[in-house]
Amino acid sequence: MQINLKDTFTKELPADPILENSRRQVQKACFSFVTPKKTRKPEIVHVSPEMLSAIGLSQEDANSNVFLSVFTGNKVLENTTPYAMCYGGHQFGNWAGQLGDGRAINLAEVEHHNKDWTLQLKGAGETPYSRTADGLAVLRSSVREYLCSEAMYHLGVPTTRALSLALTGDEVLRDMLYDGNAAYEKGAVVCRVAPSFLRFGNYQLFAVSQDEETLKTLVDYTIKHHFSHLGKPTKETYLQFFETVSNSTLEMIIHWQRVGFVHGVMNTDNMSILGKTIDYGPYGWLEGYDHNWTPNTTDHQFKRYRYGAQLDIGLWNLYQLANALYPLIGEAEGLEGVLQSYNEKGQRHYLDMMRSKLGLFSKEKTDAALITDLEEILQLTETDMTIFFRNLSDFSAENPSKGLIVIKDAFYIPTEVSDSIKQKWNSWFGQYAARLKKEGMASKERKEKMNQVNPKYVLRNYMAQLAIDDANKGDYKLIDELFKLLRKPYEEQPKSEKWFVKRPDWARHKAGCSMLSCSS
Ligand code: AMP
Ligand code: MG
Repeated sequence: MQINLKDTFTKELPADPILENSRRQVQKACFSFVTPKKTRKPEIVHVSPEMLSAIGLSQEDANSNVFLSVFTGNKVLENTTPYAMCYGGHQFGNWAGQLGDGRAINLAEVEHHNKDWTLQLKGAGETPYSRTADGLAVLRSSVREYLCSEAMYHLGVPTTRALSLALTGDEVLRDMLYDGNAAYEKGAVVCRVAPSFLRFGNYQLFAVSQDEETLKTLVDYTIKHHFSHLGKPTKETYLQFFETVSNSTLEMIIHWQRVGFVHGVMNTDNMSILGKTIDYGPYGWLEGYDHNWTPNTTDHQFKRYRYGAQLDIGLWNLYQLANALYPLIGEAEGLEGVLQSYNEKGQRHYLDMMRSKLGLFSKEKTDAALITDLEEILQLTETDMTIFFRNLSDFSAENPSKGLIVIKDAFYIPTEVSDSIKQKWNSWFGQYAARLKKEGMASKERKEKMNQVNPKYVLRNYMAQLAIDDANKGDYKLIDELFKLLRKPYEEQPKSEKWFVKRPDWARHKAGCSMLSCSS
């Protein structure tokens, strides 16, 4: 197995001088060297062919013993020095101090076809940042991360990727529902891949500890390797860096809103500096369209990270990053300007995105009201987001009275659609038809365009759970089936129509299908 290594993080940034694997507060260092934990009986469950070739490996490599050993943490590749990153973060609005890679270990960086990738094992054992936990991951959460990160990529949402999913053969104790009923589950490791796993929290930690020198070293490193188009680091470059992060964060969240993805834990340690979706924990997909929904049981009371708040939380998190970068810039004005433009751009881009979901590609003043009205009606009774928007492409502006028939499959409880709700729909369809006539696009073309932004297949919460239930019994066929299905989320796949359905009733309150805890 030949990998083109190109380590920069450990070579150019300050390391924690302590090598022993004890929990500690680390000062003036970006990472600590660590060694992944050996596992009892590793077994590869699935490998992503796209990621395999992206890092320059073949299917033959994937079948080798070396691959199995390296990507389950049992063998450290020659000339590599695995490490855990040091970062802090705001968790649910409060500064949490040092967090760091408590269950993630970066193996190495590789270059292939002029692209840089960091390979990272999630669930490979303790690090200095594991605090009170074990550094391990269970099959349940690993299947969810593996399938969802690849599915997001194919949906066109910026995301970290996944190379492989493996069982460790070890048992891991978890209290899944935090109700005192801990049980052993199968241990697993995912190899995640991204150009970088740097988070807002990496920068925040140095700003909070007033270690400007390491902060500058880290920002300069980030610009050199990941924002090289900005050129040599100066005060202006730092501001442009922040503006670029602000823009990519915004675009990422607009994509989340488009496909109905709720991250669940938008703490600043879970915000990638590259604007990629990172850390798939208790995430979920909107089934019934509901701005107040969050899948995360830990956030059940205040719903800080609910679907409808994600853009605002992005801004809140960017404020924290701005505070962290302030010492390097010394002036608030530019940073504030960027934050203001996030707000302004956010509204504009959200509107454009929603227009595209409705098949509107020109702009009319009345669009904002049309969209707000729709959002309100969608929430009057439980209405499946994915099915609604996908089927809406069959709406005919010539026949607005047929609108309700076009979208009827999206209603969870048809008897709940009262006459007054029907009336609201009919009136909305009337406005929509008038707007489509102004747009003047042929319905065939509109349908095609809408189907490119409104996915037919997403990783519904219950689908991941079915794959997990099978995998826990040693049957991985469904993981493979969903992996393949979600590679083409916008295409009609007649043999897979069974996945284009509303969440089944049994899944409404089942753990893993509607609500998830952080116990991964
Ligand atoms: P999260 O909310 O999952 O992003 O994790 C927050 C912090 O807790 C990070 O520093 C993680 O590395 C750490 N953490 C989460 N789960 C574990 C675990 N099983 N073992 C060690 N650290 C963990
Ligand atoms: Mg995290």
